[in-house]
Amino acid sequence: MNKFYIVATPIGNLEDITLRALRILKEIDLILCEDTRVSRRLLDKYEIKTPLLSYPADNPKSGRSKSQNTNHKLQTIFKEIESGKTLALISDAGTPCISDPGSFLVSKIKEKFGDSIQIIPIPGASAVITALSGAGVPASDFLFLGFLPHKKGRETLFKEIAESERTVVFYESPHRIIKTLESLKLHLGNECKIVLARELTKIYEQIVSGNPEEILKYFNENEDKIKGEFVVVVSKSKV
Ligand code: SAM
Repeated sequence: MNKFYIVATPIGNLEDITLRALRILKEIDLILCEDTRVSRRLLDKYEIKTPLLSYPADNPKSGRSKSQNTNHKLQTIFKEIESGKTLALISDAGTPCISDPGSFLVSKIKEKFGDSIQIIPIPGASAVITALSGAGVPASDFLFLGFLPHKKGRETLFKEIAESERTVVFYESPHRIIKTLESLKLHLGNECKIVLARELTKIYEQIVSGNPEEILKYFNENEDKIKGEFVVVVSKSKV
């Protein structure tokens, strides 16, 4: 049976990849990635020569010109699979399909090939799990929201976060992090613990904890730290 691998790659530190992932990426025929320049850095480090092809990121219903390009790429990928090649999907960072565009492609492959293809996920780094493991808050069960919407539905989500008894985790960009902290302060007050995990596994990795007011004060006094990639963890209970 043909196999299609979904392979987790590092979220920063290029050493954070499993031996199995490296072996598979070396052995297979074609790697589907988001940005070939980003993935090339990883492959070069491990001397992996497998060809790269960028995969369709959008849903074809979302726009005409994009959709033609997407359909064309999908057909190319289907043909590669039909010719008996083994493919793997990776993303720019972390586990494919977790808040990145892989899910659309995986759903299309399942739709087209059904049980005649074995989809094999290869586990590894993901920012949500890495942040939670270092947060020091209850993490037996949690609510993961991915990226919060920029406009519609944003306020409703903050209300849901305020009402949730579970630890809540989401991804945020440096452009919106202060606004987000202000909204958390507004909706939750200071009766909660926020953990901001920034630049995980990278040189400037930082995990800052406190109530919303303390975290806001920290970032207002250290504006140079408002950059890089963030995971926000919100908890109302103690471990
Ligand atoms: N698929 C990835 C995963 O498994 O974590 C997530 C991809 S999503 C497009 C990118 C977001 O994940 C960033 O904006 C940031 O919120 C979070 N992220 C990724 N790498 C990170 C890191 N090294 N440190 C903190 N957050 C990170």
